Parts: sequence; structure tokens; C-alpha cells
Amino acid sequence: MPNPEPQFDDLYRELILDHYRRPRNRGALENATQRVEGLNPVCGDEIHLDLRIHDGVIEDIAFEGNGCSISQSSASMLTDRLKGVTTEEARRVMAKFRAMLMKGEPPDPELGDLEALEGVAQLAVRVKCALLSWNVLQEGLTEAETAA
Ligand code: ZN
Repeated sequence: MPNPEPQFDDLYRELILDHYRRPRNRGALENATQRVEGLNPVCGDEIHLDLRIHDGVIEDIAFEGNGCSISQSSASMLTDRLKGVTTEEARRVMAKFRAMLMKGEPPDPELGDLEALEGVAQLAVRVKCALLSWNVLQEGLTEAETAA
């Protein structure tokens, strides 16, 4: 059985497909300080995230992956939103994104394009797709903080 698809309005659907077809910051970083990865076996999604973190700032970020449009567009939007920000801001955006998907809270303006994924909250099985790259990110941030 195919995975159920959430309902998105047209504008949001376009934005999600745009990130899926033309992913931002795709690839690997030569000088990454953290390399982290994760799987979502329920859907077969896979994300590898490279981070270059210095003095509490995400100086560069890139991802590679395979999987459904929700998992890959979420990763693309993540890198777009968090490149160049402090790890503190990254954690704040991550908390707001999770609150939108897991608690059904309305999207916070700080989420930017990520608000397009709001409709995913209706389908618990697809929430795992949208959160995969963020769980990977959290591992990278924690690793950077404990290494410091
Ligand atoms: Zn998926």
C-alpha cells in the first residue's frame, strides 16, 4: 500500500516539490566538523548531513539522501533555513518545527518555507519523514556541543 499523502494547498505543494526537485545545499562538505546520518525504515528515507560548526555557528551545511518528497524537501528546507545561523537559533527553529508537526501548533514566522510542511501533522506516519533530517541535525548539534 502506498504511503498516505497529506493534503497541501497548492502554494505549499509547489514549494515542497521545488525543494524536492532542486534540493538546496545538496552534497558533502570537505571540511565538515560533524557527519551524521539517519534512516526512517517505515518509509525507506535516508539522510546524511554534513555540518561545519565553529564557535557555536553553523558555518556550512549540506545533505545527501534518498526517499520520499517530504523527507527530502524537509532536509533541503532545513539546510536553507539554518545555513549561517547559531546553534542556539537552530535548536529554537527545530523546537518550533517539531511543535508544528507533533502538537499541531500553528507555524511560527521563524520557520520560513518550513511552514509549507504544516499539513504533514495530519498524518502521523508521514511526520517521521518530515522529522528525519531534524533528528539527524539534533545528533550533530549534540555531538558538536560535547566536542567543544
Ligand atoms: Zn518518507
